[in-house]
Amino acid sequence: MERSVAELVGGTDVEALTAEEVVETVLERLHPGVALACSFQKEESVLLDMLLEREPRARVFALDTHVLFPETYAVWRQLEQRYGIRIEVFEGPSLGRQAAIHGEALWERNPDLCCSIRKIGPLGAALSGLHGWITGVRRDQSSSRTATPKLGWDDRHELWKASPLADWTDDDVWAYIRERDLPVNPLHERGYASIGCTHCTTPGTGREGRWVGSGKTECGLHA
Ligand code: SF4
Repeated sequence: MERSVAELVGGTDVEALTAEEVVETVLERLHPGVALACSFQKEESVLLDMLLEREPRARVFALDTHVLFPETYAVWRQLEQRYGIRIEVFEGPSLGRQAAIHGEALWERNPDLCCSIRKIGPLGAALSGLHGWITGVRRDQSSSRTATPKLGWDDRHELWKASPLADWTDDDVWAYIRERDLPVNPLHERGYASIGCTHCTTPGTGREGRWVGSGKTECGLHA
């Protein structure tokens, strides 16, 4: 059932708020029932910093597909060390178990099923019991994301969804990272604008490096 943002924030014009103000608004209304979905891309470096500066006990979770880049696992540990936190982990079956059930390299034969098992299922578990989640989605990342609201009702998962960086550009993100000297996934500086699993990600701008040649553009977490 669709719900109006006014139910959560009254007359506040959320679209007129800065990213920091959106984070504060969501924390005020929903903490501890809200969590940041962290994929260890540069947007999450920014959001982790914004969130934990305002609420050190804020919840953060990651979806471990078991086929993330070594650089992604490395920045994961760096972020945990910098902020003194443990990021909650949600994961699908091990590589061996998935192979036993569906055969080897499912991502080549049926990437939608692979994403469903490794991402969508674990996301459902992560969101269970929450009242809202925070994501690093930005409108200029792809044509499917241009209408992303800063805060809205997520009808599919039935909770509030905030995207505080919705109107940020790449330059905005990098400026914040440099100003705060944040740990950042080094793959970005090697040409990967968007970073997912090793088998499905190549360098490219926007999201063009994801599932190249397959026609698939989203894993299903956000669209
Ligand atoms: S991005 Fe690729 S490897 Fe990762 S879950 Fe989706 S299909 Fe599987």
